[in-house]
Amino acid sequence: MRTNVQPIPARIAGATAEVHVPFHRAALDEAEVAAVSEVVRSGWLTTGPKTFEFERKFAEYVGARNAVALSSGTAALHLAMVGIGLQAGDEVLVPANTFTATGEVVTYSGARPVLVDIDPVTMNFDPADAARKITTRTRAILPVHFAGQPCDLETIRQLAKDRGLHVIEDAAHALPASYRGRRIGSAGRFVAFSFYATKTLTTGEGGMLTTDDDAIAERARRLRLHGISGDAWKRYSAEGHWYYEVEEAGYKYNLTDLQAAIGLVQLSKCDAHSKARRRIAERYTRAFEGVPGLETPRVREDCTPSWHLYVLRLDPDQLRIGRDSFIEALRGRGIGTSVHFIPLHLHPFYRRTYRYKPGQFPQAERVYARCVSLPIFPTMTDREIDRVIQVVAETAWEHQR
Ligand SMILES: *Cc1c(COP(=O)(O)O)cnc(C)c1O
Repeated sequence: MRTNVQPIPARIAGATAEVHVPFHRAALDEAEVAAVSEVVRSGWLTTGPKTFEFERKFAEYVGARNAVALSSGTAALHLAMVGIGLQAGDEVLVPANTFTATGEVVTYSGARPVLVDIDPVTMNFDPADAARKITTRTRAILPVHFAGQPCDLETIRQLAKDRGLHVIEDAAHALPASYRGRRIGSAGRFVAFSFYATKTLTTGEGGMLTTDDDAIAERARRLRLHGISGDAWKRYSAEGHWYYEVEEAGYKYNLTDLQAAIGLVQLSKCDAHSKARRRIAERYTRAFEGVPGLETPRVREDCTPSWHLYVLRLDPDQLRIGRDSFIEALRGRGIGTSVHFIPLHLHPFYRRTYRYKPGQFPQAERVYARCVSLPIFPTMTDREIDRVIQVVAETAWEHQR
């Protein structure tokens, strides 16, 4: 048994003793306040000029041919399901370690989310396991760029091509992330981003579907506003006309100009925020690599992650403290954390409806049992970063086997 407790430099210990660090703090300031005020004063609150400007600038930023602003990332995923014509009885391959939104959108049409295990190194969708799960009913592959690290897209795209399947990317964590030098969102027929409060770019609630297919973009624009054709929003504007036609049953999935105004400011900060996240990740990795029992995230050589999450894994062979107690210990010393994710097959809904059972996705379960997500947000101060490093390292050193 090792009992040595790594001494923490007095400079760090003394300077950070009283610092409390939340898991997340949104990076908003007076610029967003001013942008929203401007929209309120303009009198035009819902989808309009700000939304279209946000779509244009977002498309330019990620290098997408089309970007369609929506009310949430879930709405973007759902419109992708509608876009491929998903029907009852169809199957879609979804990673086991994701948020329920990824699986839920498959169920909207009565199709079945078929879960796929993960690669234990990257914690990302495992294309080899996906290949084993393909049946005659499989219609699409829906990988998640987990924590903002791009999946093995080449293998996934090749698999989809060989088996005649659609690829829909859940890019809720992946702004801005790159795969082989290209931003996520710059290629692909369906890439879904989320602007939920904790994501790397937030509008409070919101989402974006990017696509290199103009017809898909046009249909998504129609579906987000009740299936009304063309520039339906113009009917509300001064120069608009009262006539409109409903082409199909759509949804109420539009983004408002109030949200888009926040999004535009956030987009202008995206590079700076991304740099700040990367710096925090690098500091964490440097600090934890030398601590037995702490396993830092592995980054693929051909990827630049967004670092939406920093997922640390605890090795039970080296530590006498389990994940839950580790989280409690951190909480007791003022550090907020989270867990990403409780695998879908362990939730009552997926077990009851699709007969999933514990033990079916061993890699996802193994990661789930060991993982803890540390604070990583762009407004973290050096004192806050130091404090997280100190408390995490001390907790690990105090519980060496
Ligand atoms: C946040 C999230 C979503 C859903 O995004 P919303 O904008 O909240 O609807 C989907 N998938 C994953 C992996 C997420 O983390």
